[in-house]
Amino acid sequence: MNRKPIFAANWKMNKGPSETEDFARALLPHVQHQTFPCDLVIAPPFVSLAKASELFGNVTAVALAAQNCSEYDSGAYTGEVSAVMLKEFYVHYVILGHSERRSIYGETDDVINAKMLKAREFKLKPIFCIGETLAEREGGQLEEVLRRQVTKGLAGFTEKDLQETVIAYEPVWAIGTGVTASAEQAQEAHAFVRSLVAEAFGGEPAAKIRIQYGGSVKPANAAELMACPDIDGALIGGAALEASSFLQIIENGT
Ligand code: PGA
Repeated sequence: MNRKPIFAANWKMNKGPSETEDFARALLPHVQHQTFPCDLVIAPPFVSLAKASELFGNVTAVALAAQNCSEYDSGAYTGEVSAVMLKEFYVHYVILGHSERRSIYGETDDVINAKMLKAREFKLKPIFCIGETLAEREGGQLEEVLRRQVTKGLAGFTEKDLQETVIAYEPVWAIGTGVTASAEQAQEAHAFVRSLVAEAFGGEPAAKIRIQYGGSVKPANAAELMACPDIDGALIGGAALEASSFLQIIENGT
């Protein structure tokens, strides 16, 4: 199965509009009028989406993602941003279920599922993050945790929804820690996640879905990770804050 890899820069709570402009100035000469063997996505904070849309809106090689969205359409939800609001920008993807949302903001599998369904209602493509903590891995719960996250997160999804979804496997112990899963550990988890999708949706959708790896991806480890048969790109935090390093990961990983 030939899956187009997808490399996404998750800026987290970094880069307001002016730093977004600096990043764009560094990246644009390398992506404008270029074609890539992969999809490129940048996920700025909400307040930088207008600036990023203005700068990347006519760059076909680059798509934008939001880092979250509400499970509701509108109303008395102070501090929240809805999927329908995101549609006013050049936003095609939305990161959902990130471990920082799960652990710091208490998002449960059910809340994440409601957000996933809301994203699809408004034709946003979820980058659906899953992954186990170190304690869960060491306690032999890796498969149980991934099974629960995948089953609950994708509940109510049709095959068509699945086609527009990207899964990001991010072991929590590898996020922002400098510790990367070994290629073997990552490949094993990715193959397992693909088998879970096959159980729920059938072999063909499972063979087609793109599963990114995330957790301390950097230029030095991108090639080895991306060479694994079930790894289809990366979700990158720290190493994607500089355009040059993001581009180097893409170059080494494709
Ligand atoms: P990291 O973050 O690359 O800084 O580990 C990845 C992520 O949280 O998506």
